Amino acid sequence: MSKNTDNNISRRRFLRDLGIFSGAAVAGSALTMCKSVAAPEKEGKDGEKGMTMRVNPNSNDTVSILGYGCMRFPTMGLSSGKADDDRLDQEAINASVDAALEGGVNYFDTSPAYCKGNSEAAIGEALSRHPRESYYIATKLSNFAPQTWTTEASKEMFENSLKNLRTDYVDYYLLHAIGMGGVDAFNQRYVDNGILPWLVEQKEKGRIRNLGFSFHGPRKSFDEFMAMMDRGEIHWDFVQIQLNYMDWLHAEEGSDSNTNADYLYSELHKRGIPVVIMEPLLGGRLASVAAPVAAKMKERRPDDSTASWAFRFAGSPEGVLTVLSGMTYMEHLRDNLTTYSPLDPVSDDEKAFLERCALEILQNNLVPCTNCKYCMPCPYGIDIPGTFKHYNTCINEGNAPRDGEDPDYRRARRAFLYGYDRSVPRLRQATRCISCGTCTSHCPQSIDIPTELHRIDAYIESLKQNLI
Ligand code: SF4
Ligand code: SF4
Repeated sequence: MSKNTDNNISRRRFLRDLGIFSGAAVAGSALTMCKSVAAPEKEGKDGEKGMTMRVNPNSNDTVSILGYGCMRFPTMGLSSGKADDDRLDQEAINASVDAALEGGVNYFDTSPAYCKGNSEAAIGEALSRHPRESYYIATKLSNFAPQTWTTEASKEMFENSLKNLRTDYVDYYLLHAIGMGGVDAFNQRYVDNGILPWLVEQKEKGRIRNLGFSFHGPRKSFDEFMAMMDRGEIHWDFVQIQLNYMDWLHAEEGSDSNTNADYLYSELHKRGIPVVIMEPLLGGRLASVAAPVAAKMKERRPDDSTASWAFRFAGSPEGVLTVLSGMTYMEHLRDNLTTYSPLDPVSDDEKAFLERCALEILQNNLVPCTNCKYCMPCPYGIDIPGTFKHYNTCINEGNAPRDGEDPDYRRARRAFLYGYDRSVPRLRQATRCISCGTCTSHCPQSIDIPTELHRIDAYIESLKQNLI
């Protein structure tokens, strides 16, 4: 795969303009956790370190360790201030994609389900302005709804993806979010309708280059998907999993529907299956952790962002092909390029430090919501992710008083309640949840959504009535 060489701006100058080579970003590495398999680092054009690249041992694709997640594209509302204008801002997307490519990113991950169905067309337009061989595109068979389980509907979804992406082949094609609903759901979506053999056929025809899946679910389901490969029924060319320093050892705590990332990763790595990482930041939660944890991170690496710790952790295991980040703002892209140009893998000592951070974060009883919005819309209008986000943010920022003894009680109480009304309109607040349960089965994090909403609502009522 060749890179686009028609650009007049030198890569070195471009990265310098973005601030990539300032501070500790290029600090020498005394690093031991992992070395990448084949091409841990690539020299930039001018001899400086560029983006860390990984080689897919199955296809020989050279893939940037930073992958561009196309789930959280900027909307027109972000620039106009009209929050309900959720049309995608194509100009901003084009600019961000151009900057990502220039910074060395070459893997773009989308789905027919992202951005209310508009993500594929938006990234298709942005990427079509560049040579096809300068990037890899990943998309998914997102046939969640029963009406899309038929052979015809699933084939149509694949063909529409090609059209929207303005291409005649997909580099990485995923069965989207398998594991939820176990093997029965997998059979309904991919086996009983004959779509899996059809996809294998498309791979033989070159319309799909790598076939894999993304996973959310319990160990039992994951083991079954691995066993399919062990029995020679299918070859998984790659697998996408949720991996971050919280989920590494703690995804199974309080839930029998999730699997720890260290287990998922080791099962894949021992089979030589390249691993794509999603949710390295847990939907943004690891970009703004509780103040005491953030302070400890700053003390260790003063020039680094809180998010960079999570990205370094996610990219460190040698079997990781790429780490997806949904970059809504150019600042996110800049920070990620800094972190990964090149990646400074976490040392064993830093890994132990991050585990201590995880334990401290867990004590705060945050809602493990990643803001994916798969639970939306709620038929009763509840803003589920908005409510969880406000609650988590207030805890992290010290605006959720635990009791009336808190010396900062009055200020924090006010910040929580006023902020809640500002970020979630009253008609969409937790108190209106009737526990119908429609949302719960859609949540890839297995959150008991009505229970969590009622827990938060009870807390809010206590604050309102000055009972705590
Ligand atoms: S359980 Fe509550 S939040 Fe979920 S769909 Fe029903 S009313 Fe909406
Ligand atoms: S509650 Fe679950 S489905 Fe809804 S946005 Fe959060 S993680 Fe996604």
